[in-house]
Amino acid sequence: MRTVFGVFGDPIAHSRSPNMHNAAFLELGMECTYHAFRVSPDNLKDALLGAKAMGFGGVNLTVPLKQEALGIVDADPLAKSIGAVNTIDFKHGMKGYNTDGLGAKRTLEEKGVKIDGSNVLIVGAGGAARAIAFQFAKDGASITIANRTEKKAIDLATDVSSVGLASGCGLENLKELIHGSDILVNCTTQGMHPNTERTIATSEYMHSELTVFDIVYNPLETRLLKEAKKAGAKAVSGEMMLVHQGAEAFRIWTGVEPPVDVMKRAVLEGL
Ligand code: NAP
Repeated sequence: MRTVFGVFGDPIAHSRSPNMHNAAFLELGMECTYHAFRVSPDNLKDALLGAKAMGFGGVNLTVPLKQEALGIVDADPLAKSIGAVNTIDFKHGMKGYNTDGLGAKRTLEEKGVKIDGSNVLIVGAGGAARAIAFQFAKDGASITIANRTEKKAIDLATDVSSVGLASGCGLENLKELIHGSDILVNCTTQGMHPNTERTIATSEYMHSELTVFDIVYNPLETRLLKEAKKAGAKAVSGEMMLVHQGAEAFRIWTGVEPPVDVMKRAVLEGL
């Protein structure tokens, strides 16, 4: 009998996770299968208890369930500080993790970008920004969070200060902030399909020593990344963050090293 894994969310039809994980299971000849399940926040607890009772190997969570899960599962310290869970392992009870920040870290590492000791400017203060800010601060970066709603940036920076260096502000001085940064991370929805002409910054704001990481992956090459190339900066696209957060979940569930290239190909085919 195959071990079942899944992603819970609502909506869920768009999810690339089934393609990505099933390709990995097939590649490794593992008797496992991964499916998408539409689950509303009201039903999350029942769905998780049911999945555990039925012998699921593990579950990913996506919008709008990541925060809801904190009150249900035994979240690890990083997931607790981020305030969101995206991976649940059933081996010992119901253990919750957040692999989004690690996905971002591995994406930059793979491109030879050093996080430790860098000045990182994160634009946005939503769920993805939280995960990345905590991870990069823990990894020794000095974090500035700039957000349209300034209070959210300041509140997030206050939370992140418990693990590292962080400050928060609005978007007014973005040009100066980018000038003083080694890494710029776009964690807003700006530039995402269908608003592909939008960008948080243009090439005049950038310098050639800068790494620009856009976690938006639809389209694969966003306007921000085109602007980065124009400025001679290093441009890093967001699809590998999706792949690496999935690869990390795969490791947690199976203890097996995932075939990251196969997972990447499956995600790119889906996009
Ligand atoms: P979220 O929690 O809804 O946060 C959205 C952020 O975008 C907020 O900071 C919001 O600012 C800002 N924003 C929205 N419209 C804006 C505008 N017109 N100008 C300036 N800022 C604006 O979303 P999320 O879950 O963090 O996701 C953010 C993006 O990352 C999405 O495009 C998502 O697809 C992508 N993502 C990618 C990955 C990956 O694996 N590559 C993973 C997660 C998310 P306010 O606070 O002022 O509203």
